[in-house]
Amino acid sequence: MMQTPSSSPLHDLGVHELKQALAAKQVSAVEVAQHFLNRAQAHLDLGAFVAVNPEVTLAQARAADVRIANGTAGALEGVPLAHKDIFVTKDFPTTAGSRILQGYRSPFDATVVAKLAAQGMVTLGKLNCDEFAMGSSNENTAVPAVGHSAVEPVRNPWDKSRVPGGSSGGSAVAVAARLAPAATGTDTGGSIRQPASFCGITGIKPTYGRASRYGMVAFASSLDQAGPMAHSAQDCALLLSALCGPDPDRDSTSLDVPAEDYTRTLNDAIAGLRIGVPKEFFGEGLSDDVRAAVDGALKQYEKLGAKLVPITLPRTELSIPVYYIIAPAEASSNLSRFDGVKFGHRAKDYADLADMYKKTRAEGFGDEVKRRIMIGTYVLSHGYYDAYYLQAQKIRRMIADDFQNAFKDCDLIAGPVAPTVAWQLGAHKDPLADYLADIFTLPGSLAGLPGMSIPVGFGAGGMPVGMQLLGNYLQESRLLNAAHAFQQATDFHTARPAGI
Ligand code: GLN
Repeated sequence: MMQTPSSSPLHDLGVHELKQALAAKQVSAVEVAQHFLNRAQAHLDLGAFVAVNPEVTLAQARAADVRIANGTAGALEGVPLAHKDIFVTKDFPTTAGSRILQGYRSPFDATVVAKLAAQGMVTLGKLNCDEFAMGSSNENTAVPAVGHSAVEPVRNPWDKSRVPGGSSGGSAVAVAARLAPAATGTDTGGSIRQPASFCGITGIKPTYGRASRYGMVAFASSLDQAGPMAHSAQDCALLLSALCGPDPDRDSTSLDVPAEDYTRTLNDAIAGLRIGVPKEFFGEGLSDDVRAAVDGALKQYEKLGAKLVPITLPRTELSIPVYYIIAPAEASSNLSRFDGVKFGHRAKDYADLADMYKKTRAEGFGDEVKRRIMIGTYVLSHGYYDAYYLQAQKIRRMIADDFQNAFKDCDLIAGPVAPTVAWQLGAHKDPLADYLADIFTLPGSLAGLPGMSIPVGFGAGGMPVGMQLLGNYLQESRLLNAAHAFQQATDFHTARPAGI
């Protein structure tokens, strides 16, 4: 096993440590990349990767080594990461977890991918996800993982009989199992925070519009947002600083706010920080083990000088029906582009154009995607638009207003990410069970707020528990600062699954 001078195996190092070891030339980018590629091969059973291409990865690493040698290194030169397979990449195929995109190769890189590459990051491959990012367990993937001939679920490295969470399940598994020091994810209704929580890693979804959506395969455009998943708030700060920023020519919803260096404020004191604790996040549905771990974390924050403030987010429950109207409505429109003409799969035998569309989409989309297209089409249809879609939009606004009310009394909001720890593979037979488990992540998504998940303990079956931190718009630095303070005082984020 490759050793750095500090004698930790390379895969135990995070982004910050790898950045330093590479800059100090203690290790080369090629050595680091090769080490992680070997790790990925040794853990194919987890099903995290859906595409690798060692030649491409090593060529990127060689180029990074050249830039380190000649003094033109970027901020994260030679540090590897892997991308959720929802970001288009020109050097790797992109499927978005769907049969309909199998064989698709993008002619360009997503802005987030390009921005990380511009800082010298090396791509290890593409990571499994729920089809079009629709799901909470990664069981909706429709493509086989690397090393598998059939579609199989992604496995949680803490207990391989459990789900990793979703939709960025492959990303969370790759980081938790040390197959990559970091990964990108996307969060529409919780897909960075919830898998981070289920796999014991740190993830942040920035404010809606903070990161460009250009080249992210669209699910629900008014909610989709990219963000990093890694071992620590410090690593997430480094990555978020690199991937955020305006992209006015390519994403009209990207915010006109310059990129920020989130590492600058990481070590600010948090004494006096007012943490809002919404009573609706601690009600009946919350399991005792998750409650105990989150309560413990809140106590730790008090020890660090923060003040806990009881708050209310009265429409928390409504976020489920509202989200599951708005997200499918937008998805039904976004997914109309997959018609067998321009991208990926096309049915072989068909009678005429309409038949080609029908057969292509029937063959190409999985059950959950079809369900959402049907729900979305229904709620947007004449006669139902006012009753469902318009009502949902109104309540969405009220949910956002509730947060603004709450932020009058507090600086951050804390609570659980999910009501339980990761469940068993196959346990949720009814899709509604998945939808209900999104209750704590959906309100922040609907409001477009930045949110994080940080590991705060262990629950049933020894599974990791994450705590959610939500901030007001563009308060990512405050979130990362609070998360970093917690991680300086605790070591939950350094815990690792047995056998990894
Ligand atoms: N679980 C939610 C859904 O299925 C959220 C997914 C996401 O954030 N991409 O829609």
